[in-house]
Amino acid sequence: MRQENTIYDIAIIGGGLGGLTLAIQCAKQNRKVLLIEKESYPYHKVCGEYISNESWPFLLSCGINLHELDLPKIQRLGITAPNGTYLSHNLAKGGFGISRFTLDYLLAQQAKLAGVNLLENCKATKIEFENNQFYIQTTQGVFTSKYAFGSYGKKGNLDVQLNRDFVQEKKRGLKNYIGVKYHIQSSFPPDLIELHNFKDGYCGISKIDNNQYCLCYLTTEENLKNNGNNIKAMEENILYKNPFLKILFTQATFLYKQPLSISQIRFEPKTQIENHFVLLGDAAGLITPLCGNGMSMAMRAAKMVSVLLPANLDDANERAQFESNYQKEWKKAFKTRLKFGRIFQKLFGSVYITHLILNLLKPFPSLLKKLVRLTHGNDF
Ligand SMILES: Cc1cc2nc3c(=O)[nH]c(=O)nc-3n(C[C@H](O)[C@H](O)[C@H](O)COP(=O)(O)OP(=O)(O)OC[C@H]3O[C@@H](n4cnc5c(N)ncnc54)[C@H](O)[C@@H]3O)c2cc1C
Repeated sequence: MRQENTIYDIAIIGGGLGGLTLAIQCAKQNRKVLLIEKESYPYHKVCGEYISNESWPFLLSCGINLHELDLPKIQRLGITAPNGTYLSHNLAKGGFGISRFTLDYLLAQQAKLAGVNLLENCKATKIEFENNQFYIQTTQGVFTSKYAFGSYGKKGNLDVQLNRDFVQEKKRGLKNYIGVKYHIQSSFPPDLIELHNFKDGYCGISKIDNNQYCLCYLTTEENLKNNGNNIKAMEENILYKNPFLKILFTQATFLYKQPLSISQIRFEPKTQIENHFVLLGDAAGLITPLCGNGMSMAMRAAKMVSVLLPANLDDANERAQFESNYQKEWKKAFKTRLKFGRIFQKLFGSVYITHLILNLLKPFPSLLKKLVRLTHGNDF
């Protein structure tokens, strides 16, 4: 097994949006950066692929020329309930659509250009902190760094190794969710994102690059189990009860042979630091997809880290100060959003409450605007 002599300034585990953008920012500060990613780019990910405009300037600063990509600008939100209620709303801030296949690949290229040592097809299996350094075991050898960051997503093998609180089974009766995604072709309006409620879940649709649409939903593992673990049967028996979804699913052209799916999604609070290992993105706190801005949160945390990092990475006092500042800033930026995300998720999971809320909100667009605002932030 390879054991490099290099001591990296920064090692990052997980090359999704949080990890890639953090790697780029740190490399631009002339730090020696290692990024460890278990997949190889480009690859598809379960995600609604709608990015809140709060991230636009930051992505430009990471070298992604969004203007040239001719991406759909999304300015209208439609929310439906299975009884046919439709609530429409103009998004004050709005967003844009881009597939993770394209965006993560473009960021990976920028990371390499910035000098990041990006290891693909490399899985981190263990992390330890000793004598002011991190030792990271991976499928390609052991690596050493002064600081280490975990941006490996919602739940991973390292959470188990670190024995993090939230992996300790079935706390407080929280539900496990699954995510399912398709890329489709459709005649859906390019400036609209729709969220369609169904029993214990919701499905989003919006346009992305390459003249395609992302159709992605979240529901409980129980819904799938009750339908013999058959995704198609679950869609026909549960999702199609919302007439808007039935039309979408039966009239679209599906571009994958099989849906892309993930399981074991839970939305409980998490810690942001484990024995000096600093977490960001979904690894630090997973916002419900209903809020449509987990990607922006992961990138905002990356920017936060890069701004707070001390010049001297060897000093233990500076490390303590950095960790304290990061936790403060993280809570200030995300704690309220995550809390409201969890509340909205619970309400939107119930068909009855969704009918009620949509009807109540219809005459009060300014209230809906405030609710959307609670889960979003300003440009960064
Ligand atoms: C159904 C669903 C729909 C969503 N829709 C939206 C949306 O429309 N808009 C939005 O903003 N957000 C959405 N989100 C949330 C968004 O996808 C995440 O918040 C965002 O991807 C988090 O980025 P991240 O960098 O933390 O993790 P990720 O993007 O998940 O990246 C984690 C990376 O770590 C790698 N990895 C994992 N373990 C290891 C390991 N041991 N070693 C090496 N590499 C590892 C993975 O391969 C992956 O590339 C949605 C989420 C779900 C579940």
